[in-house]
Amino acid sequence: MKILLYNSLTKQKEEFIPLRKGEVSMYVCGPTVYDYVHVGNMRPVVVFDTLRRFFNHVGYKVIYVSNYTDVDDRIIEKAQKTNKKETEISEFYIEAFADSATKINALKPTFTPKATQHIESMIAFIKVLIANGAAYENDGEVFFRVSKVETYGELSNVTQDELQVGARIDANPKKEHPNDFLLWKKTDDAGIKWDSPWGAGRPGWHTECVVMINDIFGKPLIDIHGGGFDLKFPHHENEIAQARAYANTGLANYWMHNGFINLNNQKMAKSTGNFVTAKDFIAEYGATSLRLLLLSTHYRSPVNLSADIIENTNNEVLRLQRTKQALVRHFALHPLKVIDDSLLLKFEEALADDLNTPNALSELYAVVKDLNILLRNPLKEEEKLAKLAHAFEVMLDVLGLDLGVKNLNEEDTKLLKDYENARKNKDFARSDALREELQKRGIF
Ligand SMILES: [Zn+2]
Repeated sequence: MKILLYNSLTKQKEEFIPLRKGEVSMYVCGPTVYDYVHVGNMRPVVVFDTLRRFFNHVGYKVIYVSNYTDVDDRIIEKAQKTNKKETEISEFYIEAFADSATKINALKPTFTPKATQHIESMIAFIKVLIANGAAYENDGEVFFRVSKVETYGELSNVTQDELQVGARIDANPKKEHPNDFLLWKKTDDAGIKWDSPWGAGRPGWHTECVVMINDIFGKPLIDIHGGGFDLKFPHHENEIAQARAYANTGLANYWMHNGFINLNNQKMAKSTGNFVTAKDFIAEYGATSLRLLLLSTHYRSPVNLSADIIENTNNEVLRLQRTKQALVRHFALHPLKVIDDSLLLKFEEALADDLNTPNALSELYAVVKDLNILLRNPLKEEEKLAKLAHAFEVMLDVLGLDLGVKNLNEEDTKLLKDYENARKNKDFARSDALREELQKRGIF
């Protein structure tokens, strides 16, 4: 199947051609773990998990890496304020993030490297950049020499001239040029630090991801690099620049960026206080609602969170759950499995077109509509019902929508049979009592 992806680097949709046949290498920039993440931070989790699931569905093996930035000024600041170690802060928020990711039904990444586990490689990497003239040391700090990379700006389209205007304001006198960026930061405070040939310090954020990719994949070149739009510049631009200088690669063949989430028509951001944490949102509305809400908009468009959208999405989840429950009940009493993959074709085409999840959801809803019609008289067209039920299951799985509807165990099935018999015999007192019990078990 031909899969098209919008490549932020070339600014067009391109056919996906993997570096290795049948395999996809993916890296998605993970959170800086100094606090609970907000709902906006869950968007890349959902988007790239869905892409991964789709690749799996069409037969690719996916190596999915998402990191934790566990060394950062904000972590150090929090550790000092609360009299804790940096690792206590970062481990706590890593767990909180992983918990939200699990709840939202994201598959566990193949690898979740932490920046602090790769410091030695970062030092070695920076040494290479210094040796080949792409970086220089000055008074315990190391900077990247942006002028060494002719293609600088290829991703974000920021020109070196434009950069200079912005950089002049807070120019660091240690830099040769205002555009140069930090690879190794000198540290003389009480915060976490590591010894290096340039003195005690810690790595710059842009070096972390490129080195973790290099460590895990064996070279700085993968298929897909993902993250939010806001990471394009400077973070991803600077990642590419280092890969160019280190191994003359562009780091990734496809760069994918997801849009923001707006709250009250403003970008959700910790820095402005305009945010809801993922943890709180999930506790209030449920993780499946959040996942469906995020999938209802194309990943490159902004999502506007409003009470209306949340309510509509919750109703949609309930509708899906009711259909699934009706199917579970029906097939518990009348087991039948028939597979017709042609029912998935349009759904797959939508996802193969730059992960068009809104169109894929339209296909899911069309199947649900057909199922609901058939479920009114389920024994009339049993085979058709079974085919559509299978397509429904596959679609839910590819989209990662866990409706929380369980399959029935033996006892459940017996209760359900008793209920059906009581109804047939017009024993309404008994059928009402059994229905109540079945409701308690989440079967109705
Ligand atoms: Zn990154």
